[in-house]
Amino acid sequence: MTNATSGGPGRIAGNGAVAARAPAKVNVHLGVGPLRPDGFHELQTVFLAVSLFDTVTVRRAEGLSLTLRGEGSGAGRGPASVPADRRNLVWQAAELLARHAGVPAEAHLEVDKSIPAAAGLAGGSADAAATLVALDALWGTRATRGDLAGLAAELGSDVPFSLLGGVALGTGRGERLSPVLARRRWDWVLGIAGEGLSTPTVYDELDRLRGAGALPDSEPASTEPVIAALRSGPAPVLAAALSNDLQAPALRLRPELRRALRTATEAGARAALVSGSGPTVAALADDEDAAVRLAAELAGAGVFRTVRAVHGPVPGARLVG
Ligand code: C5P
Repeated sequence: MTNATSGGPGRIAGNGAVAARAPAKVNVHLGVGPLRPDGFHELQTVFLAVSLFDTVTVRRAEGLSLTLRGEGSGAGRGPASVPADRRNLVWQAAELLARHAGVPAEAHLEVDKSIPAAAGLAGGSADAAATLVALDALWGTRATRGDLAGLAAELGSDVPFSLLGGVALGTGRGERLSPVLARRRWDWVLGIAGEGLSTPTVYDELDRLRGAGALPDSEPASTEPVIAALRSGPAPVLAAALSNDLQAPALRLRPELRRALRTATEAGARAALVSGSGPTVAALADDEDAAVRLAAELAGAGVFRTVRAVHGPVPGARLVG
């Protein structure tokens, strides 16, 4: 094992490891348009990166290998649902960056997961974004942020935002991003349910409900009110502007989420909505103290497996250590 080679990056630790972390996200607005011929839906979404992070540590090795720890790995409290092989998005991220840079795909990848899988928090996307950043440093590929964003979009619709972080307007399938300047801090409590929900299943259910006339076809709602509220608040204004077209299908698939949303608002949240395709409930609090109180209340309510107080915006995938 070697340290940074000449001309390589300067962030390689004495043990030859490089670590990067990337945040979870909440969609404060998720407007889902029509199904496109490529199987994706046209989106108008506003992403907010929040302070729940996965860390990916990479080391030089022969071939590619992967170790998972924490949420979803079988070693933590959550269900063991994340594959530790080439089906994992971090593995695909490594192979894609290696191909792009013309270097051998050789590294050991270690993923420390705090973001639960299949929760609507873009945990897998965070892992992929952190892998791109960490391996770019380990391999000295000197990819630009633009190169990495292009690779991220090939990996998944949410991966570019996991790389960028902060607040951003997402269009296309969610991969085309316009950063939004919003310096105000927002405090949230994430209520994580036991069983994950598959994103394609939730989109399919939305199409089914729309096809059956049970839900109106989407008229893209303006993202301006939620962006203005994110910039300046106050919390009741943001609360009134939150929306998620995937909430109705998620509630059809998981009726018990209704109780979870009600529990959050009864416990003092300004508003509660399903995060992305769910089943995580994102509950908005007035400030950090209110979030800590709300988290304690929700932890005792018995409707969530895990409850986390978080804040955003936070930066996207970055080297650490
Ligand atoms: O891009 P990603 O791999 O995260 O997408 C997972 C699945 O979610 C897609 O295969 C598709 O079924 C659904 N999806 C969608 N429209 C989007 C994003 C995702 O229908 N804009």
